[in-house]
Amino acid sequence: MICISLGRTRHSSMMEEHRALAEKGAELVELRVDFMRKRPDIGRLLKDRPTPVVVTCRRKADRGRWFGTEDQRLAILREAIIGGAEYVDLEVDVAGSIRRYGKTKRIVSYHNFDETPLELFDIYQRMAKLDPDVIKIVTMANSPGDNVRMLEMVGAADVPTVGFCMGEMGTISRVLCGRYGSPFTYASFSREREMAPGQLSWAEVRNLYRFDHISERTAVFAVIGDPIAQSKSPLIHNAAYRRLGLNAVYVPIRVPPDRLQESLNELERLQVAGYSVTIPHKEGVLQYAEQMDEATDLMGAANTLFRRGGQWCATNTDAPAAISAIQEGLRKAGCIPDLAARKVLILGAGGAARAVGHGLLQQGAVVTLTNRSRDRGKSLAGELGCQFTSWENRGSETCDVLVNCTAVGMHPNVDETPFEQHWLSDSTLVFDTVYNPEQTLLLKQARNRGCAVVSGVEMFIRQAALQFALFTGYEAPVEYMADTLRRSNAAARTIVSPEQSGGES
Ligand code: NAP
Repeated sequence: MICISLGRTRHSSMMEEHRALAEKGAELVELRVDFMRKRPDIGRLLKDRPTPVVVTCRRKADRGRWFGTEDQRLAILREAIIGGAEYVDLEVDVAGSIRRYGKTKRIVSYHNFDETPLELFDIYQRMAKLDPDVIKIVTMANSPGDNVRMLEMVGAADVPTVGFCMGEMGTISRVLCGRYGSPFTYASFSREREMAPGQLSWAEVRNLYRFDHISERTAVFAVIGDPIAQSKSPLIHNAAYRRLGLNAVYVPIRVPPDRLQESLNELERLQVAGYSVTIPHKEGVLQYAEQMDEATDLMGAANTLFRRGGQWCATNTDAPAAISAIQEGLRKAGCIPDLAARKVLILGAGGAARAVGHGLLQQGAVVTLTNRSRDRGKSLAGELGCQFTSWENRGSETCDVLVNCTAVGMHPNVDETPFEQHWLSDSTLVFDTVYNPEQTLLLKQARNRGCAVVSGVEMFIRQAALQFALFTGYEAPVEYMADTLRRSNAAARTIVSPEQSGGES
């Protein structure tokens, strides 16, 4: 079950939105009465309520908005109990002074906005003595391992326990707490209206992560990187699981640059079955792998960790994905999809350039690489064993295939291009690895110039589809994944009005 936190300043809007949530299928709503501008009228809020509720009135010290005295706050909580609210939230320091009455269930809660204490289980045991129906423990995650300890505590609890971590690093436990027996998780009305750091929206928890389908048998996959919040991988992998009816979930985990080995060791306790790997861990993850294929070994970077025969195997699906996208582009342009001896210019010298460069050279292409930072570009060209040309000179020669592996043109800098339009020849196939937006300025100008084009979405979906097959053993629903990504890119471009975003009134 998902509990949606609702905080509005006026009674009328609180009740109106509560009704709207009920119509959309909400099963449990937390009324954050500390958000109300006037003293909350509990009777009015509870009368004719369309769903079961949790009544919560948070003090400022607990990052709430309650402006009155503590006595007034406790009186409100007692009113909620007398009024028959299904649940009332009682912080651990006041739970002892508020008696059980009627059918109202007591959620005894503990929040820590700084850290996830080592003695989580001791905290749980102290709370268990306060006559709880549900224990709620919410702490700040400062490392991926904090989630692991939290979920283990939830799994070991006798009293039903809602336990998860806050902050960007806490997403995994907000989603996976159901796998460990948490009776519900919390979500916000919308992303713009999160009530706690890192809180996910109801739409994300319900539709993206399908919280209500998560059980102890759910297989867990993840993408690790830093930053990770903007990753589109959870969107398309979860969409694919949904499409194929698989009991699996895919979560983003922010793993700081210096925490890779330690985090993977700790996450082992959650039995994560496979990882997508992104910046800055593509090289470091090889140290964790017990097996890797020859191409990945040669490349020195992997974007996938999967299990085979009890061992972690590393591979790189970026390179084959890029090659297959280019070959498909050539085919569509009426050319033979053979890259041998084709002249290719790669812009960029980061992880994408490394993978695409390797893939192209293996196909026998004649590759030249250029990069804004000369030393980095020269160094990668030397490693790959291909030509280097200076950034200033990049438009001086024609090529059969141009590949943009820089971040230029990526959202929000959509008016930028790494290559002048008049440098393009109509016989060049232009491939932009940037996938948000799909139609970059480079691709638009190339199309106007009469060039065949391939977008980054083609590569992104292919690399994810290869991962999906390694993770699950099933063929990926490629078209469905691509449609999902395109719809999400389009939605992100839509300007959201304050009413639509549900801004505080
Ligand atoms: P990275 O390792 O951080 O490398 C970034 C590259 O972009 C570097 O070569 C950098 O040049 C260059 N760059 C950044 N800003 C620039 C600017 N204003 N002008 C010129 N060059 C600039 O990142 P990455 O992993 O290689 O990713 C690069 C791009 O590939 C991103 O847009 C990413 O979305 C895309 N990508 C797509 C896929 C896919 O599946 N479609 C997969 C991976 C990556 P300097 O060295 O001079 O900083």
